[in-house]
Amino acid sequence: MATVDRLLKNAFVICLDEAFRLFPRGALALRGNEIVAVGDEAEIVGAYQAAETVDCGGRALLPGLVNAHTHVPMTLLRGIADDRRLDVWLLGYVMPVEREFVSPDLVRLGTLIACAEMIRGGVTCFADMYYFEESVAAATAEAGMRALCAQTVLKFPSPDAASYEDSLASARDFIGRWRGHSLIVPSVAPHAPYTCTPDILRSCTDLAIEFDVPIHTHLSETSQEVDQWRELHGMPVVPWVKKVGLLEAKVLAAHCVHVDEGEIRTLSHARTGVAHNPSSNLKLASGFAPVRAMLEAGLNVGLGTDGPSSNNDLDMFEEMRLASFIAKGVSKDPTVLPAKTVLAMATRLGARAMHMGELTGSLEPGKRADMILIDLEGLHNRPHFDRDPEGIYSRIVYAAKSTDVTDVMVDGRWLMRDRTLLTIDIDPLLIEADAFARRVDTFLVTREESLLSKLVAIEGATQEESYEVQLKVRLVDPTAVERALDSSVEILRRAHYHEFDTYFTFPDPSQGRLRHREDEFVEDDDSVSQVRYRLTLTGPAAEREYEHSVLLSRSRFIAPATHSLRFYREYFKPEGEIAVAKDRRRWLIRFQDVEFFVNLDRLTSPTVAGAFLEVKSRTWSRGDAEEKARLMVDLLRELGAESAKPVTADYVDLGSETARE
Ligand SMILES: [Zn+2]
Repeated sequence: MATVDRLLKNAFVICLDEAFRLFPRGALALRGNEIVAVGDEAEIVGAYQAAETVDCGGRALLPGLVNAHTHVPMTLLRGIADDRRLDVWLLGYVMPVEREFVSPDLVRLGTLIACAEMIRGGVTCFADMYYFEESVAAATAEAGMRALCAQTVLKFPSPDAASYEDSLASARDFIGRWRGHSLIVPSVAPHAPYTCTPDILRSCTDLAIEFDVPIHTHLSETSQEVDQWRELHGMPVVPWVKKVGLLEAKVLAAHCVHVDEGEIRTLSHARTGVAHNPSSNLKLASGFAPVRAMLEAGLNVGLGTDGPSSNNDLDMFEEMRLASFIAKGVSKDPTVLPAKTVLAMATRLGARAMHMGELTGSLEPGKRADMILIDLEGLHNRPHFDRDPEGIYSRIVYAAKSTDVTDVMVDGRWLMRDRTLLTIDIDPLLIEADAFARRVDTFLVTREESLLSKLVAIEGATQEESYEVQLKVRLVDPTAVERALDSSVEILRRAHYHEFDTYFTFPDPSQGRLRHREDEFVEDDDSVSQVRYRLTLTGPAAEREYEHSVLLSRSRFIAPATHSLRFYREYFKPEGEIAVAKDRRRWLIRFQDVEFFVNLDRLTSPTVAGAFLEVKSRTWSRGDAEEKARLMVDLLRELGAESAKPVTADYVDLGSETARE
């Protein structure tokens, strides 16, 4: 009789191996951290003598669940700004808070909380991607869980790296130090094609191949991403990453929501693992991944929760149910993604998607002892029908809850016994987490008080506090002025634009107002050759009127507008919005040795009859400004427009007046 360290008996053993073996009265033999045998109880008990025997009380014994895609430290950001679009949530809230607060200590705190939540819910192994990944790895190992820990690499500065070269170098160090660890597989995570460059993807691939570790990334999460790729590169995302070389590595790709048949074949040939994240895809309205087609193509499709701030929990039972229900609902076929398949996705297929299938994901000899016990006798899971042992799959997927998990073992070590966590003391961690949330609240409240700090948080902005002298008159017919401009003054430069301005107004006028401007540069043949988007935050103006001209002093902060108008609307939440469109001819002229900008504007929306002549100059001294104001009146005379009616209102006021009429 062979000897082993431990025998687990009196369990309904669900192997989740290729043969989907079930042992309704089963047992399992362990030596150290390894499974030695699994089978009928009578057979196992007869064959092995153990130092310790554990009676499982008739509970279900199955491989631990595998969370194939997450960002565990983000437990600390759950609920930070929900019910927004992905870009507003990520760029407007998550990333600014991460830039301000993320540190190795914070990552450790968030990771331990996540590990506690996952252990309680029967997860034994997960795939992570975050900053300071070494802290994730250390905390995970301390909690006793198994994980693929991938150090994020981005094309822009991140909380843990000033440049992508830095993050790549720290990924290399991290992988070198942790490779061969019994619980942690270190890895590198080029975040996504749209946050990386071909060079970054290539360098990450080379690094992963050199150390023979997987790559963890996001692929084809949203239709916008795919549309953008078609537009920029003439192909969808998967063929592009293949061309760049990424698929030469062992890749774990999260999402793959918008992939077509050809792309699925490409992923399958490359043995790319896929992490399907049903909650996250639903919450962020990303779409429905073609899970059935991916499975039929032989892809290893695992299940993931994604980060706990886009979910907002780490509950794999919920992911299993949703994966099944969505696939059924979308295909209108209730036989699609049965419970048995979904449980395999949450275990063996997930481990294989992470390229860790040799280690974990099923109960079979040679694999690590990563397993859980589930109590299926709760009120919500009674009664049960025993004529077909396979009914156990539907009991686990459709009725059991994460709170039904009673015991968790990873690598032969109990992490939870009878619902008591053995490796993590959760109370002090939650006190720290609450204190952190108060600091973030204060940070965001302060930021939300000022339009400028909100602008800086997403775009950076450059300030100019300046005096602006401007003169604006309304012309019934601008042709005389146009002729005079061509003949009477020295023209240095001329340009023609279509300008589309959207002004955001706010309840407190001292906040100023924000203008989003789309400038189309119009060529001589009327074609549009260039489009520029800018945001300008204008402080309230102090005005002083002269004959025909106005001296304004105000602060202006200008930033390139890199997001859509829709993004800014959702992010700044203005009280009012006024749109003004105009056709602008602009001259830079020299008059009496002073340079002025002259604009001739026709409002196209709202339509206002005639045209507006605007003369402008910016200056940094008040004396200079008053001198220029006098010169402008002379210029007006020179252009033959001295009798035109002065206008002091801004276009935005004209816009709102017309809108009211
Ligand atoms: Zn993710």
